[in-house]
Amino acid sequence: MAGHRPRLVGLVAALLLIVGALTLAAQAQPARGRPPGREPPVLREGEPLVPAPARAALPWVDVHMHLIGGRGQDWAGAVETAVGEMDRFGITLAIILPPPQIDGQPVTHDSANWASVLQRHPGRFAFLGGGGTLNRTIHRHADPGSVTDAVRRDFAAAAEEILDRGAAGFGEMASLHISATSGHPYEFVPADHPLFLVLADVAARRDVPIDLHLDAVDGGMPTPPRFAAEANPPTLPDTMAALGRLLAHNPKAKIVWAHGGSDPLGAMTPAVIERLMDAHANLYVSLRIAGPQAPVQNKALAGGGLDPAWADLLTRHADRFVIGTDSFMVASSVRGSGPGITFAQRNTPKLQATNQFLSRLPPDVARKVGRDNAALLYKVTVK
Ligand SMILES: [Zn+2]
Repeated sequence: MAGHRPRLVGLVAALLLIVGALTLAAQAQPARGRPPGREPPVLREGEPLVPAPARAALPWVDVHMHLIGGRGQDWAGAVETAVGEMDRFGITLAIILPPPQIDGQPVTHDSANWASVLQRHPGRFAFLGGGGTLNRTIHRHADPGSVTDAVRRDFAAAAEEILDRGAAGFGEMASLHISATSGHPYEFVPADHPLFLVLADVAARRDVPIDLHLDAVDGGMPTPPRFAAEANPPTLPDTMAALGRLLAHNPKAKIVWAHGGSDPLGAMTPAVIERLMDAHANLYVSLRIAGPQAPVQNKALAGGGLDPAWADLLTRHADRFVIGTDSFMVASSVRGSGPGITFAQRNTPKLQATNQFLSRLPPDVARKVGRDNAALLYKVTVK
């Protein structure tokens, strides 16, 4: 094989030149003016984003947005920040959800604390609940032997009540959630934990989705050095087999697997998503389109162009993808530091990259991924 390498390098260099030329040509004309049937340009990894367009052609829906109200619980301030950013980046409606919380974290992060504030902006918001309450219960019962019939009953009742109070579904729930920074928890229970199965049954009965944070690990792996300093164990458990079992448990429970397109560990590939989507009609993926500098894998947008494997998958399963930027909207009154404030610094590159991404999808796919799928999945009216 080594003897073939020089020829391979030459071939790759030639391809990159062609790609560069195509890219310049594509930049010279508006993305929407691309002749039908021509493939979107593919750029080299690490190449800077092209400056235009700042906005996708269509106002879009963000199904994964968090509010940071700080110790003073300034939820109104966080919502004002959100509306300002939504207007700036063309987001017509956002689904607000609490981050996945475990015991030992503040208890203020669930929909009961801020749902009423969202009503000040009719038509701009919907919300999910359970990330601050149900997720806590699941992880408290990490040992499945502790899940008695009474625990199941109380959990199902709490889940039903969240929906009765207006939630469009459950989230953000966590199976494996690695710690990415100080104060950001490590969480793990398998996705087929008995309480996840109860939640799937409630979600199926009420026809609402579950937003699931599940960092993809295929077969277990050592924790990458990048995450070794945080609250993570030295090895990470397999998560994929249990995800398959959750999806199979109740095919009517719609699972929205979060953070496609910016994978911290490497196993959330387009091929893995495709295999699962082919096998399970109840699997959806929300895309967190990473900015050009983000140190993540399996990016859908590499530089300014669509990754070809993602482009094929998005076209093949165009009804199963939504946009979930995982933006953190911080009230202007909040001072100090914390994971939400750290993550908020990534909002602008992600939101810019999302508009780049949507403007490079074929228009019919962009319309589905950007808004129509979210409207159907979360049963929201999108202006
Ligand atoms: Zn998440």
